[in-house]
Amino acid sequence: MNPEITRLEEENTKLKEQNAMKGDLISITAHQLRTSLSAMKWILKMFLDGDFGTLTSEQQNFIQKAFDSDERMIRLVNEMLSINHSEETLNTVHPIPTDIVKLLDEVYFDFTGESFKKGIELIFLKPTSPIASVTVDPEKMRVVFQNLIENAIKYSNKGGRVFINATEKEDSIEISVRDTGIGIANEDKENIFGKFFRTENAKKQDSIGSGLGLFTTKKIVETSHGKIWFESTVGEGTTFYVELPKITNA
Ligand code: ADP
Repeated sequence: MNPEITRLEEENTKLKEQNAMKGDLISITAHQLRTSLSAMKWILKMFLDGDFGTLTSEQQNFIQKAFDSDERMIRLVNEMLSINHSEETLNTVHPIPTDIVKLLDEVYFDFTGESFKKGIELIFLKPTSPIASVTVDPEKMRVVFQNLIENAIKYSNKGGRVFINATEKEDSIEISVRDTGIGIANEDKENIFGKFFRTENAKKQDSIGSGLGLFTTKKIVETSHGKIWFESTVGEGTTFYVELPKITNA
């Protein structure tokens, strides 16, 4: 082959890789920003609603400003997330041994304010004894559980419950996020991981959504050599399962 073509091809591959890494960084940072901003938003909302006692009008005024500014940032980050969505970005992972329980605990904590304000009980059924680690890209896996827990809360009604569970199996760790929410109709099930797909029910429940969360989630899980699936009944709830190969000491 012409050496010039080979050189150009190599250069092109390198550029694509660099582009994917950049996209990766933006995507992960944006997700983390969104979760932290959202955690802050719900805490500020608790203050505004008087959950921690009555505020003076000056305090109310300032906290309202912080709340509004926080909401603006969330919208901006959402836009960033939907623009920065390349397949190459999703196909790169940097796996390291990861304590999945610790990671789940952090994500769980970030959603406690939001679930409290929405009147939904968020429960992390932590394993009672230590479980094996997994080799995953922790920041990408964080995005996976952020998406699943965010959806479980979003598609539930007041009084609902969301359970997060992690169980050690023979060769894997199985994580589940179960909700008692609106559920997914049988005819929608095959499309649920599709790009930009949203059910009519979901649109009624929450008009803001990109239909990219589960598409992204599935890609990340599969690039991490894991599996993702779900069970759902309309009006009863949905459970998403993620299975990740565990690290064995053998
Ligand atoms: P988004 O939530 O932004 O619409 P997702 O890709 O995260 O996008 O989810 C795609 C669709 O799958 C949602 O619009 C909704 O119809 C459905 N869905 C996801 N999670 C749940 C859930 N826990 N309960 C009911 N429907 C869900």
